[in-house]
Order: sequence, then C-alpha cells, then structure tokens
Amino acid sequence: MPVGTSKGKKSVPDGLWIKCKKCENIIFSKELNENYKICPKCGYYFTLSAKERITLLSDSETFQEISKRNFRPIPVIVPSEPILKEFRERTAPLYRHIVENERESKALAQLRDTLLPKLISGELRIKDVEQFIERAG
Ligand SMILES: [Zn+2]
Repeated sequence: MPVGTSKGKKSVPDGLWIKCKKCENIIFSKELNENYKICPKCGYYFTLSAKERITLLSDSETFQEISKRNFRPIPVIVPSEPILKEFRERTAPLYRHIVENERESKALAQLRDTLLPKLISGELRIKDVEQFIERAG
C-alpha cells in the first residue's frame, strides 16, 4: 500500500491533494510523500505514522529476513557452469532493460508530478511544457 494511505474511514487516498497546515498551500500528496512529508512550499513537517516512518527508512533493497533454520530445508537445484553461463547471457539484456525502464518510469513520474500541479494551477500552459520538452529532449 502506498505511503499516506491506510485502510479505514476518512483516509486520504494516494493521488489527492493535501492542504498544508502552516502555509495553507495545496500540495499533491504524492509530492509530499516523496519529500518525506515535509511541505515543499514552507518546510512544515507533517506528522508521520510509525508505518510511514518505517516506509521512509526502507527502500527496494529492504527485505524480510529469512533465518538459516527456515532456509536450510528448502531444496535447491544447482545448475552446471555452462547452463549458468547460458542463463546469464540470455537474461543480462533483460535485466538491463528492466533497469532502464524503471529509470525512465521514475523520470516520467517525476516530470508528471512536477508539471501536473503547475498545469492545473495555471502557472504553466501546455505550450510552455512543449517548449520545455523540446529544449530538454
Ligand atoms: Zn506549507
């Protein structure tokens, strides 16, 4: 479940706007979450739940620990070196594609989250964005 959402009544679903308690600016909740729950306009610190704090401290590399006792009884097939080599050769390009796609996806999401509030507020017009993309691209 994304940060900032919770099951139950009156929760704020991901993708909505949040009003800053200090500066009263309207902030995209995803932008607020990505800014560690600190208002990007005035620096106000929003309250974090324990789960949100843990989520902020962990990343995609964080995993649940498996003890040796639980791990040992799991049967494992160990392939021969030629099979391993063949596997690596076939899968390496796929892994590179995954990494590239994730990078591109993050960049596009960041661009969307930067531009969307500005477009909605009227701060930017589509024409400005097209010019920006032409210059960047
Ligand atoms: Zn604020």
